[in-house]
Amino acid sequence: MMKHGLNARWILALIGIAFSVALVCSSVKAGGPLVVLNGQATRWPRAEVRGGPLNSQTVDASGRVLYRVDSGPLGTLTNKQATALVDRIFNLYTNIPTADIHFANGGSILDPVTGDPVDVTSTNAGKFLSSRNPTFQNPIIFDSDGSITGKGGVLGFFGFLQMDETTNSIQEGFVVLNGKVLTTNSLSTASFLRVFTHEFGHFAGPLDHEQSNGNIASNETGSIIPVGFSAAQAFDLYAPFTETLFPFIFDAPAGSQLRNQFPDSGFFVGTLDMDTKDALSNLYPTPDYLASRGAIQGQVLLKVGDSEIPVSGINVVARRIDQGTYPPLPGTVAFLTTPQIDGDGIPESPPAQPATDSLATVSSAVTGVDFGNGTYRIQGLPPGQYLVEIQQINPNAILGSGIGPLTNQFPLPIKERRSSSTERAVHRIR
Ligand SMILES: [Zn+2]
Repeated sequence: MMKHGLNARWILALIGIAFSVALVCSSVKAGGPLVVLNGQATRWPRAEVRGGPLNSQTVDASGRVLYRVDSGPLGTLTNKQATALVDRIFNLYTNIPTADIHFANGGSILDPVTGDPVDVTSTNAGKFLSSRNPTFQNPIIFDSDGSITGKGGVLGFFGFLQMDETTNSIQEGFVVLNGKVLTTNSLSTASFLRVFTHEFGHFAGPLDHEQSNGNIASNETGSIIPVGFSAAQAFDLYAPFTETLFPFIFDAPAGSQLRNQFPDSGFFVGTLDMDTKDALSNLYPTPDYLASRGAIQGQVLLKVGDSEIPVSGINVVARRIDQGTYPPLPGTVAFLTTPQIDGDGIPESPPAQPATDSLATVSSAVTGVDFGNGTYRIQGLPPGQYLVEIQQINPNAILGSGIGPLTNQFPLPIKERRSSSTERAVHRIR
């Protein structure tokens, strides 16, 4: 789910209609992986999943996750245009070189009785969103008139239809895309595309939200703007490095240089950042990823008298700092020249440069998720020297926008400071 942060202009809510209560109760929401059972991240299985009235596959024998697509239009988009956006997003996740998982278009969503392609609408959606009678299709539903999603500016939602607790795997998931917002909120194809790049990340991992640069770019509660930067300058430098799974979209403040071309942060989540790529790679690592990347593990402890209490739900961020300083010096810019925009309206990722390496080579983890109470492990780090800091999680990152295992985010006992040695450490990955 992604929310528009500051003025809630539009909200993308995770509505657990098909996320059965039993699944929620037996799992823990987590930073990195979305679902953790008994300390282990839940994954897509690597073997065939087949069944239902059509005897169809959600995962084929080679471990590819197959999704099926609605036959109807999506608001102002034709079926062909909307399907191309879906395929584009899944290709982004398939093409992460360090992650060994593939997503493929398995064809049209089929009626479980007739076997014919279906335009899914509010009148027949129940057939495809039932956990009790699953159809084994991983349906990607175009809610063209918004009647499945309902009121409230929700852009869409995803969920799981089947999970197998014995193998700790997802067997079937779905995504509903609300086409009505394309017509009534005058959202461009690009804005829609970028929001669903975020949403499909939840489906692909399944991945949780994450926080590293986004909260600084948004100048939200708990964020620390680097010394020498105004809020507008912080947006211009950090927003292009916003993590795809950051749960909020936020507006460019007055005075931002990027504002005319990119009025909000959403433009920058249409490409994948390192933390998102790593999060998927941690679940489905290639041999090269395991061999070439390092990890930093530690525990966050609260000292009370003589005792040390492990604290879960703390966001820990590792940034590479031996290419350029962190924070970057005032005057550093994300784009050295005007960014290239692709045919769908998505800007390229900022070019690699030493001055911004600490914003690009960054990864995060929340303590107490899948490595024990108070413990974090930040994986997928290329060689270099890293600054490890704890970062206050945005207090609005709860419920469907949650980050990590806590129901409510609590303020850090000690405010983050650039110079505080108690919350910063430097590690070297060789
Ligand atoms: Zn989300």
